[in-house]
Amino acid sequence: MKNRLLERICCPKCNGHLTPAVFASDTDGNIQDGILVCRPCALRFPVANGIPVFLLFRTGFHAEFEKRFQSQLAEYSNVRWPSEPPGPGEAEVQDTFTEEWEPIARDDDDLTFTYTTDDLVKLNRSVWLKWVPNQETEIQSTLVVGCGGGKEVLALSKVLDTSEIIAIDINLAVLQNGPRLQKEPGIHVVVCSLFSLPFRESSFDLVYSQGVIHHNVSTKAAFDSISRYVRRGGFLFVWVYGLDDHLVLKGGIGFLSRVAWWVEKIFRPIISRSPRGFRELFFWIIGVILHPLVLLRVRNQKSWTIKNTIHGLKDWLSPRYAHEHSFNEVIEWYERSGYQIIDVHSAAAYRDLFQKRLWGVGMTGARLS
Ligand SMILES: [Zn+2]
Repeated sequence: MKNRLLERICCPKCNGHLTPAVFASDTDGNIQDGILVCRPCALRFPVANGIPVFLLFRTGFHAEFEKRFQSQLAEYSNVRWPSEPPGPGEAEVQDTFTEEWEPIARDDDDLTFTYTTDDLVKLNRSVWLKWVPNQETEIQSTLVVGCGGGKEVLALSKVLDTSEIIAIDINLAVLQNGPRLQKEPGIHVVVCSLFSLPFRESSFDLVYSQGVIHHNVSTKAAFDSISRYVRRGGFLFVWVYGLDDHLVLKGGIGFLSRVAWWVEKIFRPIISRSPRGFRELFFWIIGVILHPLVLLRVRNQKSWTIKNTIHGLKDWLSPRYAHEHSFNEVIEWYERSGYQIIDVHSAAAYRDLFQKRLWGVGMTGARLS
């Protein structure tokens, strides 16, 4: 954890100051392992392999950390781990996304879904954030809500090269590839819930969340939470699943896309609630069966392995929540939160880049109040 991150983070409960206790530091003097202490709340938050973990509920990770640093923690028995119950659905969101991203993160996979990091740079430059070069003021601080496997953050650091980037996720796979990401001079990685962020409100030039907030119990509540962290005059980019995407295609291919949509509607609630062992076996079997077919249709076939097929299937069928929204609905969220829409994602640029239709609802708002 780069020491300068301390200037930006605060206690997610009371927004108070955090005091570090360092158990191990790297050659630059940055905290490698240790805790961050909030005295008024009498809480401690672990920092492991350079990644601070601001969850307000306890996980197996806390138990492992406690075992690993038992002697150092003895001095801090007057402060405790947070022990609130997880928010609605939050433990399930954490479990399924940790399972989804762990194999990709562990092996530092080349692909994020079907995209290489170069594809992601182009995607951000031309489709999601095409408005950035037109701004008079430089974007210097960005909060990335939901960093998944981490490659999106690397791509963003190339597109937003004037900005420091703080990437958050609730999935614990981040602990595997986070240290690699943090080697980049402008990137910080934090594990936390988007509903209890360890930052001061109105403190970022840009908050960016692509394909993330619809995987929470309420997309609107997630939107309301993250929208508070943009400074006045700053920007909020959000992309969520679209309500009518499965209705757009006509003919045979349209019929198949609607069958796939129904398969998801029927099976995702069952699979997301199944025991982990069953889920892993299910995705492995279906992955082996479908891999040859998937391989025929994906970009970057040379880099695509069965691991990518299984990852795609997990992303489709394992999240507890996958809400869909209309453009008007999302526009209203922005407007009611004091934003003016300044940009809508570029469907034409997407098709030019990837020879496919763009789906979902993506836009940027500037915060007026
Ligand atoms: Zn506190």
